[in-house]
Parts: sequence; C-alpha cells; structure tokens
Amino acid sequence: MPIATVNPANGETLRTFDALDEQGTERRVAAAHRAFQHYRTTDFAERARLLNRAADLLDEDQRDIARTMTTEMGKPVKAARAEAAKCAKAMRWYAANAERLLADEHPDDTDVKDSGASRARVHYRPLGVVLAVMPWNFPLWQVMRFAAPALMAGNTGLLKHASNVPQTALYIEDLFTRAGFPEGCFQTLLVGSGAVEAVLRDPRVAAATLTGSEPAGRAVASVAGDEVKKTVLELGGSDPFVVLPSADVEKAADTAVTARVQNNGQSCIAAKRFIVHADVYDAFAERFTAGMRALTVGDPLEESTDVGPLSSEQGRTDLEELVHDALGKGATALCGGRRPDGLDRGWFYEPTVLTGITPAMRIHREETFGPVATLYRVADLDEAVELANDTPFGLSSNVWTRDEDEMERCVRDVEAGGVFFNGMTASHPALPFGGVKRSGYGRELAGHGIREFCNATTVWYG
Ligand code: NDP
Repeated sequence: MPIATVNPANGETLRTFDALDEQGTERRVAAAHRAFQHYRTTDFAERARLLNRAADLLDEDQRDIARTMTTEMGKPVKAARAEAAKCAKAMRWYAANAERLLADEHPDDTDVKDSGASRARVHYRPLGVVLAVMPWNFPLWQVMRFAAPALMAGNTGLLKHASNVPQTALYIEDLFTRAGFPEGCFQTLLVGSGAVEAVLRDPRVAAATLTGSEPAGRAVASVAGDEVKKTVLELGGSDPFVVLPSADVEKAADTAVTARVQNNGQSCIAAKRFIVHADVYDAFAERFTAGMRALTVGDPLEESTDVGPLSSEQGRTDLEELVHDALGKGATALCGGRRPDGLDRGWFYEPTVLTGITPAMRIHREETFGPVATLYRVADLDEAVELANDTPFGLSSNVWTRDEDEMERCVRDVEAGGVFFNGMTASHPALPFGGVKRSGYGRELAGHGIREFCNATTVWYG
C-alpha cells in the first residue's frame, strides 16, 4: 500500500511519501531507545507538564488537524474536531491521574508477614520502547489513547500509522516535539506494514499495541509471541444493540442511528446488529429506518454532512460484497443497499438497513465497516442474548431496558468487553476499553490501560 493522502471524497491523490529506508528506521529505533534511558527517570510532574502543553497545542491546532483528518480518511469535519477535542481531554486526564494510577500498591500486613518480609510493595516501572500499529479510522484518538498513558508511565513510543493517514501521523510526532518532549520520546515511522516485523523483533523494542483488523492483529501478535513480547490487541467488533419492551423506543431508535453511522460507520464500537423484541420491533424499525434515510450523505468538509465516504475504495467494495451476498440470499433492504446518486467520484455508500438475515449470510458473522445495519426480531431475552453472542467478536454491547433484572442478566451473560445500558458505547479515559473473543485482548484507557505497558515490580524487604 503506498504511503499517501488520497481524498476519499473524490479519489484524488494529494500527497505521496517515500517510506523510511532501513537506516532511517534504525536511527529512529535507536533514538527511541536512547530517549527511554533518560525519560524513564523523569518524574510525573515533568511528564504531566509536557503532556498538558501538548494538549494545549492540540486545542490551538484543532481546526487544521480536523481538516487534515477529514481530507485523509473522510470523516465529517465536525466529528474530526470533536475527535481532536476528545484527545486533548484524555491527555489532560492522564496528566492529572497517572501518578495516582501507578502509585505503589501495598499488600495486607498479614500477607506481607506470611511472605517472610518486614515490608513489601508493588512498584510500577515503564517497559521501554513500545511500538504502536494504528488504524486510520480515528487517526488521532487511536494514537493518543495509547500515547498519553504510555508517555505518562515513562515509556517511549514508535508509531506505525496506517498508510493512508501519513499527514496526521507526522502531525502527531510534531505535536509532541513542539510540546518539549525530549528527542526520541515519540516518533512516527513512515513505513509499510511489511517493515513492522523487523522493528518488533528488534531487541530495543519492548512491546507492541495494535488496533485494526484481525489479520493484522494476528500477524503482529505472532511475531511478538515468537519474541516473547507483550501485546495489546484491539481488533474488530460486531456489537449488538438490544432493545427490550421496557425501553424508551424512540430514544433507542434515534441513538441507534448515531451508534451505527458514527465515523461513516467505520468504528470498531459502532453498534452493527440491532436485535429487537417483537413487542417493540415495528415501532423501532420504522423510526430507525426513517432516521437512517434522513441522513445527509456528502462532502465531509461540509458542516451539514452526517455521513461522508468510506476511507478507501477497497473498504466500499468489501461492504458492497457483504450487502450483495445478503440480498442474494433473501435479505430485504428497508433503505439503502446501493451507492448514492450524484456522488460518483468518492467512495460513498447509502445508509442501509437490512432485515431477514439468516446464518447462511456472511453479514451475520462478519463485521460491516460502513453505514450498514442488520435488524433482527426476537421473541424474548433468552433469544436476544443468544443472538448477541452469536458472533466471533466481543468488543462492546448496548442494551435498552428499564428492568434491573434484565440488566444483571446481560452483565452476566453478554460476551463482550462492555455493556452499555440505555445509551451507545463510547470510550472515556476513566473507563477501560477492550474486548474478548476475536476482538482482541488487554485493555486501553483507565488504570488498566496505563498498567499494560508497565513492569509490576515486586519489592520485598527481609
Ligand atoms: P488493517 O488492520 O489492515 O490496518 C491497521 C494497521 O495495521 C495499519 O497501520 C496497517 O498498515 C497495519 N497492518 C496491516 N497488516 C499488517 C501486518 N500484516 N503486519 C503489521 N501491520 C499491519 O486495517 P484496514 O485498513 O485494512 O481495514 C480492514 C478492516 O479492518 C476493516 O474493514 C475493519 O473490519 C478492520 N478495522 C478495524 C479497526 C478498529 O478500530 N478495530 C480499524 C481499522 C480497521 P498499512 O496501512 O500500511 O497496511
């Protein structure tokens, strides 16, 4: 894949970049390792000062970097500004909370004595250089969600960003440099995916985190496994959105539209499968379909646009194939199911709702990375939970009910890294984020995220 900015709204190649050669990559790995030797000894106050400075600069740059993101991957520009603002907030959150999250832990006195110690504690140390392999869909947020905790913990970072967002990737390195982080603390490697293995095998690189597809996750985790290096994987999702009879159906249907088409439908935590109790199915289906139909599809740089193009022609082809397969096997499109008229130059797709889904259709089990929803009717909660779990993925889930017993049943039985009641899944710096099954392992954000790339060191005093 060439390293280039190609505007998905019209297919124009705006800038191309040469990939780093071996020597260039080597220089950067060496700089990251060198930087770690000193940076790991800095205190939380100094790291927080630098990260807060970076957050201030990001706020100042918000309009420009939002336009860059939109031009590179097609998200509506208002969503791109919101993404930049969310990153600055998360950076400040980690600047304020990292010291508390990584404070020494003290086992109970009885347990300390039982271990034969006079005293003992657990002390969190940084691991070293962490390689981040990141996707294009939230080109700032996915990176910042890793970088803010990693830098606050005292690690240094190397970013291999997706090949279609090179300008955003370079911007992030520049942001940390301008904020005053020591040279080598955070660098972008403009390389293709073929160069990842050598970087990961380098003894100076301690660990890796990857957000992206299952094949990419498997490739990186295999190499890391072979090298016995820690990884965190955040892969795809096919999150259920369950609506039960006690729900506020109108609110559920309105939220469902946003939950499905956020980021032009290209979000791992987008709700993708809508599982609705028969008692409220018709009311939900009508309002949800009307909401999907009413969305404005068009130029993502326009403030009025709700849904822009998919990030690549391949992405749209993959989505179209899933829809065609379903329609060919008997599914019905309540709306969409085609490319929109008058937007031929970009990689647009109409917001789509499909019903009549059967297990024989690919769309029943595969992730739809675009504005396509599948709608299922179920007879009761048992059937809803069974269907919610009938997927290889387990990232998050949404359940609409006012019944506490139903909620507890879902907390116990829905196989996912999160259960969001009466709302849609969203990430927040204070809440852990990640999945089970084929959605990956490990957690980002909160205390769980910052401790993933730390060495929990047992300190025992005789
Ligand atoms: P990829 O998983 O291919 O790309 C994500 C990152 O991984 C990019 O930096 C990519 O680099 C890199 N990468 C890809 N293959 C390898 C490899 N073998 N070894 C090392 N690094 C690798 O995502 P796509 O853009 O191809 O999207 C395909 C599908 O992935 C989507 O349709 C969606 O289902 C899923 N996806 C999920 C995301 C999520 O948020 N969980 C985000 C993006 C995609 P390069 O760009 O150079 O290929």
